[in-house]
Amino acid sequence: MNIEPHPDRDTHADDGAFYIGGQWQTPQAGEMLANIDPATENVINHVACGSAADVDRAVAAARQAFPDWAATGREQRLDLLNRVIEGYAARETELAAAISLELGAPIDLARSAQVAGGLSNLRAYAAALSSMELCTPSVAGSKTDMLFKEPVGVCALITPWNWPMNQVTLKVGAALAAGATMILKPSEHLPVTHRIFAEILHDAGVPAGVFNMVNGTGEGGGAPLVAHDEVDLVSFTGSTRAGLGVAATASRALKRMTLELGGNNPAIVLKDADLEPAIRFIVEQGMRNSGQSCNAPSRILVDESLYERAVEIAARFANETVVGSPRQPGGHIGPVASALQYSRVQDFITRSVAAGGRVVAGGPGRPEGFETGYFVRPTIFADADDTLAAYAEEVFGPVMCMRAFRDEDEAIALANDTEYGLAAYVHGGSAERIRHVTNRLQSGMVHINGHLRASGTPFGGYKLSGVGREGGIWGIEEFLELKSVSGWPAMVG
Ligand code: NAD
Repeated sequence: MNIEPHPDRDTHADDGAFYIGGQWQTPQAGEMLANIDPATENVINHVACGSAADVDRAVAAARQAFPDWAATGREQRLDLLNRVIEGYAARETELAAAISLELGAPIDLARSAQVAGGLSNLRAYAAALSSMELCTPSVAGSKTDMLFKEPVGVCALITPWNWPMNQVTLKVGAALAAGATMILKPSEHLPVTHRIFAEILHDAGVPAGVFNMVNGTGEGGGAPLVAHDEVDLVSFTGSTRAGLGVAATASRALKRMTLELGGNNPAIVLKDADLEPAIRFIVEQGMRNSGQSCNAPSRILVDESLYERAVEIAARFANETVVGSPRQPGGHIGPVASALQYSRVQDFITRSVAAGGRVVAGGPGRPEGFETGYFVRPTIFADADDTLAAYAEEVFGPVMCMRAFRDEDEAIALANDTEYGLAAYVHGGSAERIRHVTNRLQSGMVHINGHLRASGTPFGGYKLSGVGREGGIWGIEEFLELKSVSGWPAMVG
């Protein structure tokens, strides 16, 4: 597939924009959206937008495919997952180029993290499926009370743009492993990337109707999918704002739901932390992917005895963070993903400056040398508190805030003082102190002294960061119903 800007690559009706029932199908409505290269602001191509009529066709295909796919055994599903893994690995270079072009992720990050993360998720699901108990006694030792785990049905999968293959594989891999059928409505921002993914599934031999994909906006394609009577489960990753609306619609029919939403994640630096490496790690994680990661640290909370040194170190690392073209190899950061994202991030910076925020690195506008493209200066505010929008809310850009704390109790209180609870980071020397802090954090994931989450461990959050978990056994469980059967041996005997 040619992923360079070219008018013939428009995902329009001629070559079929949507993957439904095992074929590329023509959209029912004619609305098209421009796909913009965030590094140049040039149009790459156009994406066809799905409508309720396209969603109807995709849901019907998934419903029809469900009984046969649900009846497959573990081995058959594992075989298919392994073929998907093989096909994905064979197209890694193409996927990385597409993500780099459409998202603006630097090519090395696209290859080594964006694409590689998707592969690790799929492999972790294959490992989880091999080892999961799908039929067990429901009471320990019982021979008559059995628990069966069965695929939930037809699933609506909705994903954002920031880690596209990570989010798509977390959902599609789990649904395939569970024996569910699905309709993916991916982010409207990366049509080429998602098309390659759908081709991988097709080439791996996913049976017709098991996986379907309709592109389009949240309102045009996502909303009718969530509301559809024939959808049994909604798995949504995106903003808390949209997630609350999705949850309200889905709950009217008591649909099963997994929601992976926003975050405003604390990084706590305790008084016995190894300061320089700790701050380096936190700033790198916060700026990576241009700050567009739901689990990135954004609020750096530092023991007051280390605070002024920590601010100097953080400012130095932020100033040393290179901003550059996504096409170039290297460890720099690229632009943010879209004009909307650029204006949102700039708005956070200017509002926080106007509110009296102390800027120690970066600031409003583009970095020097950039006239076009959605490039943002890596920015750090010191002495931040709730009066700064950049501290109080999720920015989703290369912007971080710092604040001093007196003691561990204050650190814990500040860390938990947010509507979110996705990820937290703790840096310190004493195991006892680290455990004390970690056990009190209201957070779905805690990373201690630079240890990142391994594939197959549960991903998800407390509070407004969502409901449910993705990854490994926990991710597959989200797509399974429990059937408790009493008297099982008598029935077969
Ligand atoms: P978004 O909520 O605008 O869109 C996410 C997806 O939902 C897109 O596919 C969009 O088209 C669709 N959508 C939007 N409105 C909808 C509606 N009313 N009904 C159905 N679908 C709808 O989010 P975004 O800007 O694409 O992504 C950024 C957000 O995602 C951030 O808040 C980030 O924290 C969050 N996120 C969370 C996780 C996680 O695992 N917790 C991971 C990545 C991103």
